[in-house]
This record gives sequence, structure tokens and C-alpha cells, in this order.
Amino acid sequence: MTMTTAHQWQAATTLPVNNEQIQDMLVSAARGETPGFELPADTEIDVITVSCGKCMRLFEDAKDEPCVPVPMP
Ligand SMILES: [Zn+2]
Repeated sequence: MTMTTAHQWQAATTLPVNNEQIQDMLVSAARGETPGFELPADTEIDVITVSCGKCMRLFEDAKDEPCVPVPMP
């Protein structure tokens, strides 16, 4: 039996960070928290790729096919 469902598209991007933000992320990671930081509301980001978060396939490859989720570790 194959389980199929809808793709969960997500965009990959890169974000520039400064030393202060990196230090904050290191502190969060040391506390066992998920590192993160806030962005100004007018921040524009460049999308590198769009892929599915459940089957990990690229939008261009998988858009016309059903989603077959890969097991997460
Ligand atoms: Zn998918």
C-alpha cells in the first residue's frame, strides 16, 4: 500500500546574518532551543529552490505527481 497525500511546498533561501545574530543563535542552541532570529517586516528574501517538505522532491520534478512522504529521522 502506498500512502499519498498533497505536497507541502516550501521555499529554500539564504539569509544574511551578522555576528550578533550568530551569537544569539549559538546561545539558543546551547540552551537546547531552536536557533532563530527576527527579521524586519520589509525584508526581501531570494528563493533558491521550492521543494516539498514531506517527500523532499523539487517542485519542478514532483508537481504533477502525488506526494509520497519519506520517513523523517
Ligand atoms: Zn511531496
